[in-house]
Amino acid sequence: MSKPVIMTVDDEPEVLNAVERDLRRRYAAEYRIVKAASGAQALEAVKQLKQRNAPVALFLVDARMPQMSGTAFLIAAREIYPDARKVLLTAYADTDVAIAGINEVQLDHYLMKPWDPPDERLYPVLDDLLGDWSASFRPPFEGIRVAGSPLSPKSYEVKDFLSRNLTPYQWMDVEQDAGARAEAEAASPDLRQLPVVFFPDGTTLLEPSNRALAEKLGLQTTASQPFYDLVIVGGGPTGLAAAVYGGSEGLRTVLVERETTGGQAGTSAAIENYLGFPSGVSGADLARRATAQAKRFGAEVLTAREVTSVRVDGPYRMATLDDGSELGCYALLLACGMQVRRLEVPGVEGLTGAGVFYGAALTEAAACRGKDVLIVGGANSAGQAALSFARYARKVTMLVRGASLTEGMSMYLVDRIDGAANVEVLTGAEVMAVHGTGRLEAADVACGPAREVRRLEAAAMFIFIGASPRSDVAVGVVERDPGGFILTGIDLRRDGKLPQSWPLERDPFLLETSMPGIFAAGDVRHGSSKRVAAAVGEGSSAVGMVHKYLETV
Ligand SMILES: Cc1cc2nc3c(=O)[nH]c(=O)nc-3n(C[C@H](O)[C@H](O)[C@H](O)COP(=O)(O)OP(=O)(O)OC[C@H]3O[C@@H](n4cnc5c(N)ncnc54)[C@H](O)[C@@H]3O)c2cc1C
Repeated sequence: MSKPVIMTVDDEPEVLNAVERDLRRRYAAEYRIVKAASGAQALEAVKQLKQRNAPVALFLVDARMPQMSGTAFLIAAREIYPDARKVLLTAYADTDVAIAGINEVQLDHYLMKPWDPPDERLYPVLDDLLGDWSASFRPPFEGIRVAGSPLSPKSYEVKDFLSRNLTPYQWMDVEQDAGARAEAEAASPDLRQLPVVFFPDGTTLLEPSNRALAEKLGLQTTASQPFYDLVIVGGGPTGLAAAVYGGSEGLRTVLVERETTGGQAGTSAAIENYLGFPSGVSGADLARRATAQAKRFGAEVLTAREVTSVRVDGPYRMATLDDGSELGCYALLLACGMQVRRLEVPGVEGLTGAGVFYGAALTEAAACRGKDVLIVGGANSAGQAALSFARYARKVTMLVRGASLTEGMSMYLVDRIDGAANVEVLTGAEVMAVHGTGRLEAADVACGPAREVRRLEAAAMFIFIGASPRSDVAVGVVERDPGGFILTGIDLRRDGKLPQSWPLERDPFLLETSMPGIFAAGDVRHGSSKRVAAAVGEGSSAVGMVHKYLETV
């Protein structure tokens, strides 16, 4: 495969040559550096690269150029290479241009001229963006291939696991592609087990579990020790933040995640309100960065492993894993978050994974190209998904139970949905049933005060109707509220009194549960804010309280 391209564009020859020189110095081994002296020349080069199927990783473009501005070039280039990272080079006074760039082309970064010394002002930014790009880049032919049927929920599960672990794969549709079918049949007679996952080393896995896939991908699934200072249950933003702080502050820390790190946030196409990411960040990117950070600090991260129960053994806290083995620790953090609420109407169960999906299921975006899509729900997550699928679908219809979108959604999303030509919002709308043979074909929706039922044809339906806490793992061990959320700190007091089960003289710490040494943070905790930043804040604060607790044992 040819090297991916970094393209730089500037109309001032001196600047262009200086950028090219600095890019070559650092990236020539892995990337091909292409330069152009104008937007028009660059666009011609971009078209030729596309014809040769050459990947482009990054555009680094001067903001102010005669004829075609940097932003105008990036708008055109984005049509051809939507995934390439986009950086504008601006003079100090051009901040307005850069902000306009963020809004118009979802700019990834703007760099001020001059960028000297490049080791401090150029390379760290580009390293980060190129790391991001490579993590989601799907090479044309090499790598893992998944042969399956779009009608099979198991095929969807495997694709989802791979993509949430940012593992590139090629999808081979055995329904549409005779070659793919023949290859899959050779490994799985009569296609009894699907999908078939082909690995570059020549091995295959049939209908694999998440754990089997995780092991094959080289992800850690077994703890290296039997005992830790801190065991974290759940690898969403809360658990990841706790792992970063636990690891960095010298605690022997292990995090156990039943699926893949990222939690609910990992399913979000674009988190736009998380501090420090003015153009938004995808949940998968945030999870990848946080997981790498936690591991760098020495925390162990077990993927595709579930904690089935927790128990107390004197001064030790024990987590039982899905194979019956146990992990011991001094302190345990429940960061189990929430699970999506199921839509209980006729037809949904049989079609889940075959056109009906919970969450944003971004693996399905390409399959929705040119088709009609339904989004059920009216909160921010539904709004983000509607905008994201609107880039591919012919039409997106949002089915919102409330009287208006503003009831449950941030204004910035409401405005964008209003401005999206192919997104329609039906308020007072409720799904009554879904239909399809093997795959979703239509949904019956009751609309308006008269509850008139309309049949809406759709290729896919994505459901965002809230979530409930995953606290069963600690049932009988810690106090919960009637909704199942775990009580901590001051919330444990009823009529000013701590529960009888609290055994100590001291009050519980802020995020401590009714069992000393067991902490709860993030969405699973009673009274939490249900936001990424709040989850990260609680996960890191919990480690502070773990330290205080460890001083007492
Ligand atoms: C689609 C979507 C979009 C969102 N967008 C935004 C946004 O733009 N901005 C914002 O601020 N918030 C957003 N949120 C909310 C935000 O994602 C959550 O508040 C945040 O993820 C909560 O983090 P958490 O770690 O507490 O829980 P979760 O994210 O729910 O993570 C919990 C993790 O624990 C794991 N787990 C549970 N039980 C076990 C067990 N027994 N053993 C092992 N692992 C277990 C789960 O698999 C999961 O990975 C969004 C949510 C969704 C669903």
